Amino acid sequence: MKPKILLVGIDGLVLSTALDSGQAPYLQSLKKRGYFTEFTMDVPTLSGPGWSTLLTGSTHAEHKVGDNSFIGHNLLRRPDLLSRAFYQDQSTTTFAAAGWPPLVDPAGPGPVIHQRREQQLSFQHRVIVRDGETHGYRQIDAEIADVAIYAISQHGPDVSFIYFCGADEAGHTHGTLGQEYLHAIARIDDHLHRLESALLTRTQNYKEEWLLVLTTDHGHLDEGGHGGDSDQEKASFLIAVGIGRGNPDWNERMEPHDLVPLLLDERA
Ligand SMILES: [Zn+2]
Repeated sequence: MKPKILLVGIDGLVLSTALDSGQAPYLQSLKKRGYFTEFTMDVPTLSGPGWSTLLTGSTHAEHKVGDNSFIGHNLLRRPDLLSRAFYQDQSTTTFAAAGWPPLVDPAGPGPVIHQRREQQLSFQHRVIVRDGETHGYRQIDAEIADVAIYAISQHGPDVSFIYFCGADEAGHTHGTLGQEYLHAIARIDDHLHRLESALLTRTQNYKEEWLLVLTTDHGHLDEGGHGGDSDQEKASFLIAVGIGRGNPDWNERMEPHDLVPLLLDERA
């Protein structure tokens, strides 16, 4: 049986800070139970280039997303994980939900996740677009979690991408050393907990196998901000927990553009 994949992107998460704080018990538990490795993002450590690499399996030179303007990008020739899973097997159903518009909104820059209108019309591809830049990620992340849990519970999409940005937002406003950053992480921790409960219910009701995968696009400076080449800004990680199946036996060594091929291979 092919496992269903839920990739959760947590923007701007300094994992060590989250784990040391004791305010992300669920993240701690997933790391402990799952496959875990750390890897290094390329500079500039910005969300546009970072997520483009993580979601398309391309280097910066290949996707040509140099910053968050996406000007001159090559994403139309570098399809995303969901699209590639569909091209690999055209029975694949996909789902994406994000509050940062360039990831999913065809009206703006990008989007990194291809629109694939035909598959949306046949309900094989669902996309939920929210705008956390306008409305704030505390509210929008909670909405993303709710719609994702609904979509997973109702439809059990084969390959999904869900995105949270509350930690990054708090990092920019308050830095990473205070309670604000930790509280934002704690809220995401709660979303993750609810998401895994939904996956567990699917495995119990439908005998499905799931892979819950977590990563980040960059860290943050202590005082807040990113884009540069410090270790803390470049630090990313991969956690992958099998639900209703074992954990993947991936190599410990990986590059950011290895994520898509690893995930596609699970469904080959
Ligand atoms: Zn940021």
